[in-house]
Amino acid sequence: MKISPIPTLDDETNQIRQLTADLVTREVIPNEHFLRRGKEAAEVWQRIQGLVKQAGLWAPHLPEAYGGAGLGFLQLAYVYEILAWSPYSSALFGIMAPNSGNARILVQYGTDAQKKQWLEPLVEGRIQSCFAMTEPDHAGSDPRSLRTKAVRDGDSWVISGHKWMVSNASRADFAIVMCRTEDAEAGGDNERMTQIIVPTDAPGYTLVRDVPVWGEESGHHGEIILDHVRVPLSNQLGARGSGHRAAQDRLGAGRVYHCMNCVGQMWRAFDLMVRRAMEREVHEGLLETKQFIQGFIADSYMDIQAARLMTIRCAEQIERGGDARTDISAIKVFVPAALSRVADRAIQVHGALGVTADLPLEAMYRGARTLRLADGPDEVHRILIAKNVLAAYHRGDSWDFGS
Ligand SMILES: Cc1cc2nc3c(=O)[nH]c(=O)nc-3n(C[C@H](O)[C@H](O)[C@H](O)COP(=O)(O)OP(=O)(O)OC[C@H]3O[C@@H](n4cnc5c(N)ncnc54)[C@H](O)[C@@H]3O)c2cc1C
Repeated sequence: MKISPIPTLDDETNQIRQLTADLVTREVIPNEHFLRRGKEAAEVWQRIQGLVKQAGLWAPHLPEAYGGAGLGFLQLAYVYEILAWSPYSSALFGIMAPNSGNARILVQYGTDAQKKQWLEPLVEGRIQSCFAMTEPDHAGSDPRSLRTKAVRDGDSWVISGHKWMVSNASRADFAIVMCRTEDAEAGGDNERMTQIIVPTDAPGYTLVRDVPVWGEESGHHGEIILDHVRVPLSNQLGARGSGHRAAQDRLGAGRVYHCMNCVGQMWRAFDLMVRRAMEREVHEGLLETKQFIQGFIADSYMDIQAARLMTIRCAEQIERGGDARTDISAIKVFVPAALSRVADRAIQVHGALGVTADLPLEAMYRGARTLRLADGPDEVHRILIAKNVLAAYHRGDSWDFGS
């Protein structure tokens, strides 16, 4: 797949994008059928990871001081778009969720000792992690309702609770657990939670099962019981009561990256769809000559351009230090829905091949549907958009209040 320099970007960012595109196009995409085999193809994984490190692109989301490539927020958004061409890039470039989000939180909130013990081996790929916030018995869409509790006992936190849908749980060496530490009297609604680092081999920490998601028995989304798990107070991540804010910091930037990732997936789906239409013969003609298929191509092109412009605009607002909350919610609703439509059309053009794992389309389709729930369901973001718009109008502002 080809890219052109973007005139509004500086030379350095264009070069990084080109370097990333070369690696993904030459090394990652042609090897997808090997990479799918995981550990069986360890040699291929290691070889490509070596090339990424040589190119200085390993862990692009982290500062150089912590072993990363030190890309800025906007640079990273533009690089995510390219990495997303292949589902294997994030692991090959050391930027796989939830490890990437946890590493960023450790950089921002971790003490020197926490960085040494957890961040360094995480960046080097020697250990894995997960982020445990959602609970089966309380609304994940309203994190203030969560009940997993940490009680201080001498120089320890003692944690009890029930979490689920914790991605990467079955591979993780430590979990960042969102815990209620303050009672109803203390502080505001958003100041009752604290994030605490819990080693997954701590007594009382049990991985109950991998929750099957979309028919995948081992999708690595874990259900966890914490039964009086004792960890030192020094495992507290950030100030007491700062858990909600830290989670919002993580998810805010994360949503822009998720959306740039969706845009990149759309380009890949689009590329596959157009190429298939140019070569597949049906009913005495190439698919590209059929108007239904031309409609799919045109509608997908419009979906991608609209989703991409919205996401870049939002990323630019954040880069300028502006208040992008309304636009983050807007892209979080619009972009995964656009990816659903584009992946759906690309599947249709490929016929049966489209729903096989020989192509990345069916995984894109499932992922896009999942994103309408994860990181805040669509309804919650729509409510936020309407609330902010109405508040702006009541202040006397107009539709472009966020510009
Ligand atoms: C594949 C996958 C991976 C995930 N990974 C993680 C992870 O690593 N760590 C983690 O902690 N969590 C993870 N999650 C959980 C995810 O963040 C939650 O599912 C999400 O926050 C929604 O919470 P819930 O499932 O409890 O739904 P609920 O809060 O019960 O909401 C159910 C539905 O109610 C509706 N709704 C909610 N509020 C309103 C409202 N105000 N008005 C109208 N309708 C409303 C929405 O349609 C919503 O989908 C993951 C989820 C999935 C699917």
